[in-house]
Amino acid sequence: MVLRDSYGRAIRDLRVSLTDRCNFRCFYCLPHGEPPIAPKEQMLSYEEIEYISEIFVSLGIEKIRLTGGEPMLRRDIETIIKKLTRFKTSDPHRLVDLALTTNGYFLPERAHALKEAGLDRVTISLDSLKRDVFKRMTGVDVLDKVLAGIAAAKNAGLEPIKINAVIVRGHNEDEVADFAAFAREHDVKMRFIEFMPLDSGHEWSRADVVSGKEIRERINERFPLVKLAVNRGSETSSRYRFADGAPGEIGIIAPVTEPFCGACSRIRLTADGQIRTCLFSTVEHSLRDVVRSGSTRVEIVEYIESVIMKKEPRHFINDPGFVTPSRTMSFIGG
Ligand code: SAM
Repeated sequence: MVLRDSYGRAIRDLRVSLTDRCNFRCFYCLPHGEPPIAPKEQMLSYEEIEYISEIFVSLGIEKIRLTGGEPMLRRDIETIIKKLTRFKTSDPHRLVDLALTTNGYFLPERAHALKEAGLDRVTISLDSLKRDVFKRMTGVDVLDKVLAGIAAAKNAGLEPIKINAVIVRGHNEDEVADFAAFAREHDVKMRFIEFMPLDSGHEWSRADVVSGKEIRERINERFPLVKLAVNRGSETSSRYRFADGAPGEIGIIAPVTEPFCGACSRIRLTADGQIRTCLFSTVEHSLRDVVRSGSTRVEIVEYIESVIMKKEPRHFINDPGFVTPSRTMSFIGG
């Protein structure tokens, strides 16, 4: 059995936020820090994450990505990874891919422990290769630490490594080709993300969005690209290799100017146990309450199926009546 929404889309990817907290203050996400953190008892325990994930895997989820907030702030992250790794069985319904999105800060010390716990790979956020711009965009002066984190992840074999950069006008669009050079030099998959209206500072403006097209053009000027003839399927990015055969890969994620909702296979679980059927949903569904109220497994499955049927056909960023979600990326789980 596979979860399908009312538009026939198969739901294969689950993003699990492990915490709302973050040690960075990226201006496009959580510039002023969190409002008072929800009480700990509202957060899912690792046992609950394990139980819920097992049910999702039995319903056809193949890929789980741990995220946040900063997921490595959660002290039991290795335990969670170990528990989830158990779903990589030989059953027809099994976990195929277990990934983590992180700001990289804790990787120099902990990349090996993550690998040993069973993590397959990491995506690391890196918004600038210049110390001052990195500091301005993330609110913290730790570029060297993140670069060391990328090296540590490579060393630990958490590959293929993906690097995420959110490109914002007036901040880092002049670094796009430098990031491509970084991908070539370090043999990583460099992914450029359009700035989305998900910031708690509500400073997003369309004028600040650097389009996927512009990003492609900026790279092509210095390093000609060839589109990869891969079936994009539900992937978020369009992917390119370097025409001269250099290592590394480019991915462009353009949810604002080139939406890909028709192929969306994702749902999200927030750290406090709410299902979100779209990054831009304005409603959430409390799976936590259903699980904690003593529901049977069958009842939990029925609840999940009914929520999936409510998955939105598409996001509405480009519609005149667009309403920004009240929770930011750090709460939703990017
Ligand atoms: N703390 C981890 C990290 O830094 O990767 C995981 C959570 S973070 C919310 C996940 C991703 O969302 C990051 O790559 C971040 O850059 C991206 N993100 C956050 N706010 C965004 C926005 N307004 N537009 C586009 N991407 C955003």
